[in-house]
Amino acid sequence: MTTALFPLFADLRERAVLVVGGGAVAARKIERLLAAGARVRVLAPELHPTLQKLAAAKQIAHRNAPFTPALLDGAWLAIAATDDAASNRAVAQAARERHVLVNVVDDAELSSFHLPAVVERGAVQVAISSGGGAPMLARRLRERLEIALDESLGTLAELLARQRALIRERIPDISRRRRWFDRLLDRIAPDLRLRGRVEDAERDLLDALDGLPANATRGSVALVGAGPGDPGLLTLRALRLLNEADVIVHDRLVGAGVLALARRDAQLLDVGKRVGDAANAQDRIHAILLEHVQAGRRVVRLKGGDPFVFGRGGEELQFLHAHGIPFEVVPGITAALACAAYAGVPLTHREHAQSLRLVTAHAKGSQDTLDWRALAAEQQTLAVYMGVAGLEPLRTRLLAHGRAADTPFALIENGARPEQRVVLGTLADLPERARAEAVRSPALLILGEVAALAADLHWFGALPLLAPVPEPLSDVA
Ligand code: SAH
Repeated sequence: MTTALFPLFADLRERAVLVVGGGAVAARKIERLLAAGARVRVLAPELHPTLQKLAAAKQIAHRNAPFTPALLDGAWLAIAATDDAASNRAVAQAARERHVLVNVVDDAELSSFHLPAVVERGAVQVAISSGGGAPMLARRLRERLEIALDESLGTLAELLARQRALIRERIPDISRRRRWFDRLLDRIAPDLRLRGRVEDAERDLLDALDGLPANATRGSVALVGAGPGDPGLLTLRALRLLNEADVIVHDRLVGAGVLALARRDAQLLDVGKRVGDAANAQDRIHAILLEHVQAGRRVVRLKGGDPFVFGRGGEELQFLHAHGIPFEVVPGITAALACAAYAGVPLTHREHAQSLRLVTAHAKGSQDTLDWRALAAEQQTLAVYMGVAGLEPLRTRLLAHGRAADTPFALIENGARPEQRVVLGTLADLPERARAEAVRSPALLILGEVAALAADLHWFGALPLLAPVPEPLSDVA
């Protein structure tokens, strides 16, 4: 294992740097040194055209002389960029003896500092090091960051630097200031990014500072869909909110992988409720949300799948609305979509299904209120949530209303998770198949012509489980 390098950003303004070598590589490094305000002396028999111009403009000092250790006197850094290994080594050794940090081009061993790959946005710099061992990798990372980091970042940094003293004076408390910053950036960053409006952004900043007493202690709630459990299926907005939350109030269905993305010091509250005391539990959840938001915290109410699909998200928002609490909603990938995708069941298909219904067959009562005639129609897909316990009556009713006994189903347990199981069959033997395979919650039933496609289109996890082919009768010996 190589020891990691110590990252540092050096202030080289008016500081002497000796560069030995005057070719193209030296020229690139010298340009960077000049940009940082260094006083550069170059030792070389000949200069690259770029360096000739710089020398003519007196931006660098050039000498055509052999290297001697005394030339390092007064230098803070040295760069050896000749194409002669022996000269480079001589510079490195002399520099070491004088405690001058030295970079030898393409020689990590001889170097006591490296020049990282850098992404620059004004004064904002992201420097990447592979410890000197894999510069190609660092370069690749740099390319990615070039794409990811918006051009306006530099302007934003300047603006914040300009107002830094004022902001600190107005909001001395650090954690409050951090929250204020997050909100501010959400507000002004798009303005800068999309329209480059520096004055608007600055006025927004000053307004936000003035509005401080009202905003600073005001908590908020974001109702966020966590998707089916795989963190890769979160939205970017959900991720951002998890990173900012003070308190995360989550259900049992939310996976550990998702919770692991929460801010380190966020408080995690599991309010997963057992069936039975649901009404009570819901009141308790309301009380918890209210308590934290009124204490000025940023609360993320995190729900499995999508919060508005059988998630009681609506009730929670009505409660918050009645108490005048501001909120936002972030959709998530609901179980029907996740299970369908990961089981290889297209929910609609030009030949097999023109509509999709999301239903729940949870409580006994809820089955009575459903429009079974409509649900039994052909060429449509039913995605049945919370249905494991009610498969028997479901079959009875669908058959009674005319759905064909050979309508295919896919029953997906732990959809989109590593332990996913997919049970295939037809409506005729649905409850028996579920029992035989011991399907447990959480499981989603997809019923309709499209379900048969899973036999060909499955691609994730274990193979789908098909009904066993009856054994041919064998003669008893
Ligand atoms: N709001 C959630 C649904 C909550 S109801 C959503 O949009 O997905 C809970 C039911 O969702 C479970 O009983 C099950 O039917 C279904 N479900 C949730 N996650 C699931 C998963 N990973 N695999 C299969 N079914 C799931």
